[in-house]
Amino acid sequence: MPARHLLVKQAAVAADAVLPRREGLVVLLYHRVGGPGGGEVDLAPSVFADQVAWLADSGRVLSLEDALAWLRGERTAPARPVVLTFDDGTPDLVEHAVGVLARHDVPATLYLATEHVEQGRSFWDDGTVLSWAALADALTTGVLSIGSHTHSHALLDRLAPDAAADELDRSVGLIEERLGVTALDFAYPKALPPSPAVDALVRARFRSAALAGGRVNRVGTTDVHRLARTPVQRSDRPDWFRRKADGGLRLEGLLREVASRRRYAGAQR
Ligand SMILES: [Zn+2]
Repeated sequence: MPARHLLVKQAAVAADAVLPRREGLVVLLYHRVGGPGGGEVDLAPSVFADQVAWLADSGRVLSLEDALAWLRGERTAPARPVVLTFDDGTPDLVEHAVGVLARHDVPATLYLATEHVEQGRSFWDDGTVLSWAALADALTTGVLSIGSHTHSHALLDRLAPDAAADELDRSVGLIEERLGVTALDFAYPKALPPSPAVDALVRARFRSAALAGGRVNRVGTTDVHRLARTPVQRSDRPDWFRRKADGGLRLEGLLREVASRRRYAGAQR
């Protein structure tokens, strides 16, 4: 693991001792499981399986739909509820993650960028391609729901409103057309917060929208179009993962948010 990641995690563990614990919904953010890259956003399948088994045993995992209802005060939830989400859409997800989720009957939402699937192109340029057929197969398990992550993974905070609207509508249209499901939820690429104009476009189209930030989402104060998510990384030791699922390691989320805004300052996608 890069030394700076370790330092950030150790600082976040230390900060947990002084930051007040907040009760609320933790939305975990995954990208890949068992991909060929093995980077920070790619978890080993056995690690992911252990995480899902632990969460399933605790009975805390809600579907995003149920979690939103809980945030609106329309249903009850177990203590420290957790939602699982995936970004982008890569074949390793259907090959290694969906089976684990189905085995434990744990729901998850995939925020899908549609262009690379439609074009039969690798999202990470690593030769692996996710097909609509594989996604349709994964949907038959009943544990996966599909949200939108734009069409081309465009960074929406810097797009003109009509181009941003096109990104949203193309992805929703393709998900409907190819999979027969309606994308009700959205996640911003790179978790970059939108301009006011794009924010309005997203609110008009989706019942929820997700960023990152590593915070818990509290009943009464959460804007469901700014859901906070907690990224899970390869370098998370089991005890760190459990802390994250319990709403801890908040400092890491905060530091990553600042770093990400800087890193993508001039990028388009
Ligand atoms: Zn993404």
